[in-house]
Amino acid sequence: MLTKIPMPEQPAKERARNFKEVTLGYTEQNAVDEAKRCLNCKTKPCVNGCPVNVPIPEFIQKIEQHDFLGAYHVIKQENSFPAMCGRVCPQETQCEQKCVRAIKGESVAIGRLERFVADFYMENQKEAESVDIQKNGVKVAVIGAGPAGLSCAGDLIKLGYDVTIFEALHVLGGVLMYGIPEFRLPKGLVEKEIESIIKLGVKIEKNVIIGRSVTIDELFSDGYKAVFIGSGAGLPNFMGIEGENLNGVYSANEFLTRSNLMKAYDFPNNVTPIRTGNKVAVIGGGNVAMDAARTALRLGAEEVFIVYRRGEEELPARLEEIHHAKEEGIIFKLLTNPKKIVGENGWVKAMECVEMTLGEPDKSGRRRPIEKENSTFALEVETVIVAIGQTPNPLIKKTTSGIETHTWGGIIVEEETMQTTQDYVYAGGDAVTGAATVILAMGAGKTAAASIHKQLS
Ligand code: FAD
Ligand code: SF4
Repeated sequence: MLTKIPMPEQPAKERARNFKEVTLGYTEQNAVDEAKRCLNCKTKPCVNGCPVNVPIPEFIQKIEQHDFLGAYHVIKQENSFPAMCGRVCPQETQCEQKCVRAIKGESVAIGRLERFVADFYMENQKEAESVDIQKNGVKVAVIGAGPAGLSCAGDLIKLGYDVTIFEALHVLGGVLMYGIPEFRLPKGLVEKEIESIIKLGVKIEKNVIIGRSVTIDELFSDGYKAVFIGSGAGLPNFMGIEGENLNGVYSANEFLTRSNLMKAYDFPNNVTPIRTGNKVAVIGGGNVAMDAARTALRLGAEEVFIVYRRGEEELPARLEEIHHAKEEGIIFKLLTNPKKIVGENGWVKAMECVEMTLGEPDKSGRRRPIEKENSTFALEVETVIVAIGQTPNPLIKKTTSGIETHTWGGIIVEEETMQTTQDYVYAGGDAVTGAATVILAMGAGKTAAASIHKQLS
């Protein structure tokens, strides 16, 4: 077969009004049939495309042999969070892009198979598995319980370290919990995968903001021998246009946190409110913009617009997310740039926009958007959600001696080791790269864990 076994999904009309997962997952038969498409290539190009080197053909072979738990153990050698990665990794630009099958037809559905195996394990493996750990008593602190911090902590605890994660929020998971919505990544699964790391003995200190409650320098005085910073990129960017302070304007970060973490969709049973009105504009074209738009629809908005200044080809979101958003009825206003948010009595009433065309490629390699003359128009909306990127919070740099950052806020590290400009302090994930991906954050956490082990032993 030249194409992947299709993924069962909730019908678009139905799912656009509920928060249940959009994709339903492969059946055992689907998974075995898809596994048979793998050619078990000797050179394993797919593995080169995976930032954490999952032994892809090996786990797929196990699926073909109906050994689903065996497949799970193969993946777990390199990836602590297969249920999450199987759902949100951009496989189309990583392992699946390198798959030999993709030369003529569609790649093997590596992500769907990974998800199937992880879900099968969760449903069928009832007894906790024990891991033999030789403790060395050396204390290491991890800042942030997102994918970077969790994967670093998971590797260090297995190496025998006494690991404590300090997390600013009252829940673990970082963007996996407060950013990516339930309909793409069910929170019960995130909790279960995190639980498997905590069971290994990682200590957790919630509601501790490093840089406010305690500083990194104080952690060293407290006996910690090394620190990993995985504090992410949680500071939202704004356009800097008139009207951004009106009621009804949210950063995507705030909007999604209200909905995912504070369960604002269940107001007043939960105390945090959220207001969408009937018409919502989301500014931006990445995964965050798609998530915000699709959440607004599920919260009851009648019309939701994605307003993006470049064209369809330049949309940075995953193709699958764009496809799902369109199916659900999100309206794409491409080549459109907001100029001003117009208010009435302090609330958003409309967004003034101009039409754009595309010129020569700019530094990013994408064609530069240019304003069309006399093309101003008003888009009537009651809510505007700004999803044009996030940068790392400067708090840790400001309160730690010797940490240097780029001008845009990313922590400077040596790429091979993830060591910062301060000895015994390492960093990785979005705090270093700016907003990127779950798997890159996990890969950075693993690299840092290996470097910390090397330095401390
Ligand atoms: P985070 O996940 O941001 O975790 C950082 C943690 O550190 C947080 O829990 C935070 O509370 C904590 N923290 C921050 N400061 C402090 C402090 N001073 N003290 C203590 N704790 C602190 N990636 C994909 O691969 N696929 C997707 O489909 C995808 N969709 C996304 C959708 C949205 C809405 C968003 C926002 C991002 C998405 N991403 C996606 C990106 C991905 O989630 C991030 O790249 C990834 O979570 C980064 O991991 P991290 O561990 O570096 O940071
Ligand atoms: Fe299988 Fe594709 Fe990897 Fe080859 S490249 S081993 S076909 S998944």
